[in-house]
Amino acid sequence: MYEFGAGKSAIRTVFEETCALREQGRTDFWDFSIGNPYVPAPPKVNETIREVLGQYAPIDLHGYPPNNGWPATRAAVAKNLNERFSTNYSMGDVVMTGGCAGAITATICALTTAGEDIIVITPYFPEYRMYIQAWKCKCIEVPSEPETFQLDIDAIKKAITPCTRMVIVNTPNNPTGAVYSEESLRALGDVLREASKRYQKTIYLLSDEPYREICYDGAQNPWVADCYENTIVCYSWSKSLSLPGERVGYALVPPTVTNHSMVYDALLGAQRAVNTITNSLFTRVIERCVDLPAPVEEYERKRKIIYEGLKEIGYEVVRPQGAFYLWLKCLEEDDHSFCRRAAAEQHLFLVESTDFGCSGWARISYACSDETLSTSLPAFKRLFDSYGG
Ligand code: PLP
Repeated sequence: MYEFGAGKSAIRTVFEETCALREQGRTDFWDFSIGNPYVPAPPKVNETIREVLGQYAPIDLHGYPPNNGWPATRAAVAKNLNERFSTNYSMGDVVMTGGCAGAITATICALTTAGEDIIVITPYFPEYRMYIQAWKCKCIEVPSEPETFQLDIDAIKKAITPCTRMVIVNTPNNPTGAVYSEESLRALGDVLREASKRYQKTIYLLSDEPYREICYDGAQNPWVADCYENTIVCYSWSKSLSLPGERVGYALVPPTVTNHSMVYDALLGAQRAVNTITNSLFTRVIERCVDLPAPVEEYERKRKIIYEGLKEIGYEVVRPQGAFYLWLKCLEEDDHSFCRRAAAEQHLFLVESTDFGCSGWARISYACSDETLSTSLPAFKRLFDSYGG
């Protein structure tokens, strides 16, 4: 725990550097570090906060909620999913959590035993490593397809052993922006079904979906739980409604999960043990805002500015199909040295890729203002030229 606390993530390290610059009153830099949405929450969220303040007794807003969240909120979440994905979920499948991170860590705590393996797909959200190691499990890194960053099903199949308990997928993906194809998720489901049978144990798929609605070019993220019966879905409104500070999300245990009620109760146990329980007031708000759309057009516009701008300069960048990150090939092999040079010489703060489980890339979070994106392009051009074009 000391190491997790003292050794910051690459994302936080860069973010804190930029916070220090802000505190000095500096404005001559570009912060692309953290996925903290610049797009404000929809006005309806603030209106709803005011509405619920007038509607409920203080105890029903600020008192303890049930550990799995208010029943009416869980029912609203299930209804929303049923309408969108033609499913048949009920409030008894939903556990409200403190953000998506709370849902992930509670799920890992609930469903693993120390010493088991959890497979992650590189490049991946670096916090997974901590969520996994905290429960004394091993984080097994399996690369995605090199060009497309889609799932490499054969590589996953080869990595599964009798110790495997879980595979984590994240689509739309942070950091590559890949949206996994339904075909590949169904193929993954087949592999996990077959391996579960072979090793006579349930291998879970944890589908981490905080960017679920942020898909571009009219695409839709597949409903992952349809592709494999033992999927636990982890979600939050941190990105879709720009509410990361409110710590509100959920874990969904579909009725198809083997020993459903035991798994659900294990999640409740984890909620008590880890205290990933969410807050009362905001679940009341979410209950009324669950149908609000994500600001996809705004992120699509930002993607265009940064993706096309960097491509035109000559950078190799992956075109994001979803989420709000751009994956950029560094102009030298060492991503640490490239990102340090970008910061020192051009005041461009990017996140190096080693923490994401691969080398030679950098992540740009474009959840910032249009102005930050467009004014950064000349600095990116100077950086490019400094490497000899
Ligand atoms: N999963 C991924 C892929 C993320 O990018 C993030 C946050 O950036 C999380 C989970 C955690 O989300 P939350 O802030 O809702 O806990």
